[in-house]
Amino acid sequence: MSSQTTEFTKGAPLTLLSEEETMFQQSVREFAIEKIRPLVHEMDTRAEINKDLVKSFFDLGIMGIEVPEQFGGAGSTFFNAVLVVEELSHVDASCGVLVDVQNTLVNNAIVRWGTEAQKSRYLAMLSSNTVGAYALSEAGSGSDAFALACRAEDRGDHWLLNGQKLWITNAAEAGIFIVFANANPDAGYKGITAFIVERDFPGFNIGKKEDKTGIRASSTCELMFEDCRVPKENVVGEVGRGYKIAIETLNEGRIGIGAQMIGIARGALEHAIAYSKERKQFGKAISEFQGIQFQIAQAATELEAARLMVYNAARLKDAGMPFVKEAAMAKLFSSQVCEKVTSISVEIFGGNGYTREYPVEKFWRDSKIGAIYEGTSNMQLSTIAKTILTDRL
Ligand SMILES: Cc1cc2nc3c(=O)[nH]c(=O)nc-3n(C[C@H](O)[C@H](O)[C@H](O)COP(=O)(O)OP(=O)(O)OC[C@H]3O[C@@H](n4cnc5c(N)ncnc54)[C@H](O)[C@@H]3O)c2cc1C
Repeated sequence: MSSQTTEFTKGAPLTLLSEEETMFQQSVREFAIEKIRPLVHEMDTRAEINKDLVKSFFDLGIMGIEVPEQFGGAGSTFFNAVLVVEELSHVDASCGVLVDVQNTLVNNAIVRWGTEAQKSRYLAMLSSNTVGAYALSEAGSGSDAFALACRAEDRGDHWLLNGQKLWITNAAEAGIFIVFANANPDAGYKGITAFIVERDFPGFNIGKKEDKTGIRASSTCELMFEDCRVPKENVVGEVGRGYKIAIETLNEGRIGIGAQMIGIARGALEHAIAYSKERKQFGKAISEFQGIQFQIAQAATELEAARLMVYNAARLKDAGMPFVKEAAMAKLFSSQVCEKVTSISVEIFGGNGYTREYPVEKFWRDSKIGAIYEGTSNMQLSTIAKTILTDRL
């Protein structure tokens, strides 16, 4: 993958891609179709991602897209990360989210707030051979993320972490975890601190893996910390400023989830269009019925609108402009469109759409997560309302 930076062209159409963007898009599209597609059904059935595939994500250069070249990354843009997540998710949303979490949350936190020593050690690993995970949620704190109960105790030359995390994507594969814990509960959310935890740190264990409805090949696990010893130098940013890291990484992460959603919707719709041309009823292809044509036209239109919102939010972010409202809108809308488009795609397949022999039911199952993780749809509405009503963000 090239590492040249993308020029931001003012006034250009949002979907007009630069040479470097086209290259990222094409290479990942081909990879997804040739290498991932044959494995999708098995990975979904076994609820496990193929380990060789994960290795090839590193070889392809898509695990450190924005990581500066000096630390082994591609030194590229956030927009390219969005293109990659869309292309992967158009074939398999589990692969999409693995790469999304790595780039938009884990790498992002270390690139922006990490010390030089953290960057040298961890970004090099994350770009070349180590999967990352991002651990904020707990059983008692989801939407109310800053009510987290995980505690960090200062023991002079190290920290001790105690508590549990829930729902952690990539946990089964990850070697590096960004973990949020409160170092000063009396200060409320201003005690929240981000730590880098390595998988083999003493006192750290990975717990139960969830048996999910969709994105089944993506691992989602519980994490347990029992007097987990974390070196002093593994605090990311400042002690007590973890809430800011969480807010700001998730603001960007949401655009990645938007990309996952438009990828899923596109994947389902492509299958539905192909099927509608093959399936014959009443002596002709069902694509010849206006009822089917209108369903496809409506789905394609809504998908285009969602894509423009996701691309615009990503381009705003790369241009250094405010993007929080646009990111929340893009995630909210693209997850709604995704549920709708995948559902229509199942209907276009008729009875076949309702079986696991055909690919569309999986896209439908995978679509649901978009309204839940990285802030539920109600939380996106709450962010959008705040930005509109108070002009604060
Ligand atoms: C597959 C999967 C992967 C995940 N990966 C990660 C990960 O990698 N890292 C991580 O930290 N977390 C992860 N999560 C957690 C995810 O971010 C949370 O599930 C999500 O934020 C919602 O929290 P909750 O499940 O506790 O739901 P709750 O917060 O209990 O919400 C339940 C319902 O109440 C609504 N609600 C809550 N508060 C309000 C309010 N104030 N106003 C209106 N409605 C409200 C919500 O919108 C929702 O409909 C993952 C979750 C899943 C399912």
